[in-house]
Amino acid sequence: MRKLLLFILVNCAFISTISAQKPDKLSSNQIYEKVQKLNFLGSALYIAAHPDDENTRLIAYLSNNVKARTAYLSLTRGDGGQNLIGPEIREQLGVIRTQELLAARRVDGGQQLFTRANDFGYSKHPDETLDIWNKDEVLSDVVWAIRKFKPDVIINRFDHRTPGRTHGHHTTSAMLSMEAFDLAGDKTKYTSQLGTYDAWQPTRLFFNTSWWFYGSREKFEKADKSKMLNFDIGVYYPLKGLSNNELASIASSQHLCQGFGRLTSRGTQQEYVEFLKGDFPKDKSNIFSGIDTSWSRVKGGKAIGNILYAIEKDFDFVNPASHLPQLMKAYGMIQNLEDDHWKTIKLAEIENIIQACAGLYLEASATASSGTPRANVAVNIEALNRSNATIKLISMTSTSDQKTTPQNLNLAANKRENLSLEANLATDTYSAPYWLFEKGTLGMYNVADQQLRGLPETPRPAMVKFNLEIEGKSITITKPVVYRYSKPDKGELYQPFEILPEVTANFKDKVIIFSNDKTKEIPVTVKAGKDNVDGYVSIKHPYSWKVYPAKQKVNIQQKGDEVTLMFTVVPPSTQSEGVLTPEVYIGDKKYTQALNEIEYDHIPKQSVLLPSETKVVRLNIQKGGQYIGYIQGAGDAIPESLRQIGYHVEIIDPSTISGESLEKYDAVVVGIRAYNTVDELKFKQKYILDYVKNGGNVIVQYNTNRRIKVERDELAPFSLQLSRDRVTDENAKVEVIAKDHSIVNFPNKIEAKDFDGWVQERGLYFPNSWANEFTPILSMHDKGETAKKGSLLIAKYGKGNYIYTGLSFFRELPAGVPGAYKLFTNMISVGKEQVITKKELKN
Ligand SMILES: [Zn+2]
Repeated sequence: MRKLLLFILVNCAFISTISAQKPDKLSSNQIYEKVQKLNFLGSALYIAAHPDDENTRLIAYLSNNVKARTAYLSLTRGDGGQNLIGPEIREQLGVIRTQELLAARRVDGGQQLFTRANDFGYSKHPDETLDIWNKDEVLSDVVWAIRKFKPDVIINRFDHRTPGRTHGHHTTSAMLSMEAFDLAGDKTKYTSQLGTYDAWQPTRLFFNTSWWFYGSREKFEKADKSKMLNFDIGVYYPLKGLSNNELASIASSQHLCQGFGRLTSRGTQQEYVEFLKGDFPKDKSNIFSGIDTSWSRVKGGKAIGNILYAIEKDFDFVNPASHLPQLMKAYGMIQNLEDDHWKTIKLAEIENIIQACAGLYLEASATASSGTPRANVAVNIEALNRSNATIKLISMTSTSDQKTTPQNLNLAANKRENLSLEANLATDTYSAPYWLFEKGTLGMYNVADQQLRGLPETPRPAMVKFNLEIEGKSITITKPVVYRYSKPDKGELYQPFEILPEVTANFKDKVIIFSNDKTKEIPVTVKAGKDNVDGYVSIKHPYSWKVYPAKQKVNIQQKGDEVTLMFTVVPPSTQSEGVLTPEVYIGDKKYTQALNEIEYDHIPKQSVLLPSETKVVRLNIQKGGQYIGYIQGAGDAIPESLRQIGYHVEIIDPSTISGESLEKYDAVVVGIRAYNTVDELKFKQKYILDYVKNGGNVIVQYNTNRRIKVERDELAPFSLQLSRDRVTDENAKVEVIAKDHSIVNFPNKIEAKDFDGWVQERGLYFPNSWANEFTPILSMHDKGETAKKGSLLIAKYGKGNYIYTGLSFFRELPAGVPGAYKLFTNMISVGKEQVITKKELKN
């Protein structure tokens, strides 16, 4: 029974820590584990390139079994990935993936660090990666991370010796780690950092190898392992009721936008690390071999250890508050340590333990979810001592305005005190993700403040310090101001309290396409971040474009309310691109930011501020066909893009596809990865191919080679072999090899300049072999590679046409790339030359 109870306790607490912002409410088991970690003075840093690269098994093992301070340094925030759970891409996807990493770390017990490197998309080789990243800046950030975190051991996820075998970002992460290992300890390098953190030489560097890097399990079995250490990362933690690998699966399942939700696993499992540099460990069973990880490591630490090891040895699970006098004594001694590094870390750890032992509940929750700079915010305070210890609340200090209010209140056992304070948000900076405040480059975020670099999040702008006396000794416990509320269908919820602009303005679309010279009505939504917003809005625009009216009044009484204003945009008569920016004037201040709110259940709510702008494109484009059926796959914005240029697009529910249902369409377009994600297509593929045979026009966008839902010989009417061929350089030269084919001539002539201005890549997962019935249209390749001709293939089948394309239209159309629109229109128009004469072409 007791065991069962413990299990339930642990798992409830466990789940509550997954949803961030909720206060930690530690059970005795968890307090005990925190004491174990308090008594281990060793640190490990894991280094890779992306959110989801990290081996959560090893991170969980080091953090929970070895008890080491463990951090994951992800060079990027994963902006270049795809999003399986929502519409966010680029910067906003990076925000989600940052939070998913933090969610994973809350499960596996690690910490999270970053650099300023931006995930610009797939890269085949570290040379290409380092052409786009600023090598010196990224290296400087890795050195900064090492000097700040001071790891004894570093573990690379990837092999620095095999460029070209995996993503260029991956290999680069390992190469930079190899360099940074030597530079971090060198006092003559990156000297401007040394004012904040001393140089630091880690003891040893490993590569987290596995059979995968050897090609097969058999090859790995035969490999020389004399320089490898291995651990059983399947160990069981009775205090948690979980195996380490189970914990690791839960952690990596936080990467939901990458489709990492998976089954948990248990049982013995070996993990290998290969020694690369530094001191070879004498004891191969201990990654920290030869490193003092006891309290004796720090000057003055031995006496602290004497107190804390005794608590660990005789821990009172029934009444942990009995340890408070000794913990407070140790707390005072840690405050006097000379070693700032360990002092800061261990003070934070022991504060948490003391608070938990006392069952001390301290919460500062704002009465609103956000405030504006220089405004006042009312904060509700709950203070509750759930032990018999003598605890006094001396005063409270709000960190935003440094105002201290005296309290001198005895916190009697289990008597809740509800207090309040008013804090001024004496700051001009917003709480949104700091790395997006300034415009960066393709490869780097722009973060001027060295102290912010590498932080996973913007430091909480409003906190409350509770200045207490416990058992007669002073201690300060700091809590971020949160916003607490409830929803009938979700229960109690917490979110970060935010500081946001007084007003924000969003365009509905990121890109607006004008396919003729007709004007468009464009909505601008203005949202108030405070009560009584009164001002006007105008739209900044390029000279050749016109916007009416020149300005409009805006008046919003209630904070949080929105109004939508319509502006008329007149495009120029010739092909042209530009940017529109709404400018909201309140008094003498101008606001130009857009607020994007991101809400998912597995991460805390995020409010992202980005420059508010929309790209406007005037195309000179001809269209054949009008009525498009769209079968959605993994999700893309192509239907909306096609609607913008005047197509009528209908989303097809795959279950309704029948012999006749497709006949009405001029073309049927299949969304990205539809054959990987839509089970129904297995049963409907024959109707799709019949539609082609009877004169229809089908355009299939890219699928990956793995997990195709249809039989491979059914994907296309003729044989087609998908591969991993891709062209990642968005500027790679494109040669039209089927110059006379109508797809590059009708209704729009496709020329070299139509391949200018593409974004992120040319395309991916091109077929690498195909039946003779297919005509390859284009040829392209990345630097140093052979020509890839499978990006756009077309075959006549019966009376219709089947097109397979790995070109990244799903990126190019939403980005407003004119040439991509022309080519897509031509794909839709193939076979319609006879029916539609040029004169009849709909504009
Ligand atoms: Zn990766």
